[in-house]
Amino acid sequence: MKYIPTIGLEIHCELSTKSKIFCDCPVSFGGEPNTRCCPVCTGMPGTLPVLNKKAVEYTIKAGLALNCQINEFSKLDRKNYFYPDLPKAYQISQFDLPICKDGGLTINTPDGEKFIRIERIHLEEDAGKLLHDGFGKYSLADYNRCGVPLIEIVTKPDLSSSEEAKEFVEKVRLMLLYSGISDCRMEEGSLRADVNVSVRPYGTDELGTRTEMKNINSLKAIARSIDSEIQRQIELLEEGILITQETRRWDDNKGESKSLRSKEDAHDYRYFPEPDIVPITFTKEEIEAIRNSMPELPDKKFQRYTVDFGLNETDASLLLTSVNLSNFFESAADECGNPKSASNFIIVEVLRILNDRKLSPEDIPFSGNVLGRLIKMIENEEVTSANSKKVLSEMFDTGKTPEVIVSEKGYKVINDSSEVEETIREILSKNEKAVEEFIGGKEKTFAFLMGQCSRALAGRGNPKLIKEILQKELDKRKGGI
Ligand SMILES: [Zn+2]
Repeated sequence: MKYIPTIGLEIHCELSTKSKIFCDCPVSFGGEPNTRCCPVCTGMPGTLPVLNKKAVEYTIKAGLALNCQINEFSKLDRKNYFYPDLPKAYQISQFDLPICKDGGLTINTPDGEKFIRIERIHLEEDAGKLLHDGFGKYSLADYNRCGVPLIEIVTKPDLSSSEEAKEFVEKVRLMLLYSGISDCRMEEGSLRADVNVSVRPYGTDELGTRTEMKNINSLKAIARSIDSEIQRQIELLEEGILITQETRRWDDNKGESKSLRSKEDAHDYRYFPEPDIVPITFTKEEIEAIRNSMPELPDKKFQRYTVDFGLNETDASLLLTSVNLSNFFESAADECGNPKSASNFIIVEVLRILNDRKLSPEDIPFSGNVLGRLIKMIENEEVTSANSKKVLSEMFDTGKTPEVIVSEKGYKVINDSSEVEETIREILSKNEKAVEEFIGGKEKTFAFLMGQCSRALAGRGNPKLIKEILQKELDKRKGGI
């Protein structure tokens, strides 16, 4: 029998505000356990939360980036549950009135474009972290993450494969990254996803029973966990075993999941309005002001790169994978006035160096403008393309400007035709045999002679000029026979 998978995602994204959602404790990653928490974020009795305005603004930005409607009236609720990483035994979240609702994003699939609906985006506080390893039979609790502002992006069950899920998460990640509200570092857990999977026999409409896998923090693991769960459910159905609604834990090292607990429904959490925080209200004008303050998002940039700059889609997507890289590209393109050359040079030469040296775009020790000046020098035939690579490598090593490197290393292209002519004549007299072969019709010899001349000019001869003069000199000798 054939089965149709249905996948929904809950993507959790930690917001990069300076302080936590209800107190002044700083938001950052790592550090000594329990050094960034206070009575408020650990929920000690008698403390009062004060809502961080920036966190609300960031949630609205996320909603606008993901094409959601923003509720002018929303409120916070208590979600009650006991878990050791949440010392106050309830989480402040949003229940029936989230800040954002009804959005979505278009992704590319092998069958064309597909719109994945987003049901809601709500704001909540993150819980702490349990440390299980290396303490024998104990687990320790680190509450540094308690109260870090978190948004949860809940999709409709519109995804039907692990590839679609991966594509969607990647696109959401880019939108949030460019919105400037989160660093979206999956490896540090600031972006992670819960995956809901069900399968149903082909030809039926009713969705199968779903299971949920929580806190998966890499694109690869998201895809692997989905594929594995689809396979597991199909095997059970084939054996006539019913799927139970449950939460499972994905173990990416073993490549398998195991049952964690039966799935709670909303009523198990006994939600009620948070009494200590007033509802969140916004006017249309305030929401518009936030919209207008937002930077250009990757889908707009993609349009501009492909349509206005004439880049191909692969190159445009590649440049957009990092905010730093796209900014670097834009200032290089602006400086040299040729986006296509800037894109080619960055993709071929700069990315190669980053890759070789295991660096990321934020580690480039010079600005896009400086690179733009090097590209302009190549276009103006002031430095040859061969030497430009050496210049680039030295820019990475020393941080010197291309102008300084070119002058120090004597890379300036020789555009003086009398100097080139003299060298070419010397080369031709030293290579009489090759000249005879060329005159005798062996065209290939031209490239050999061209190479000899370039080498004699230490790679600094303007290739166009060498070619032109060499041709002229050879023609003269041809005529002389
Ligand atoms: Zn605190």
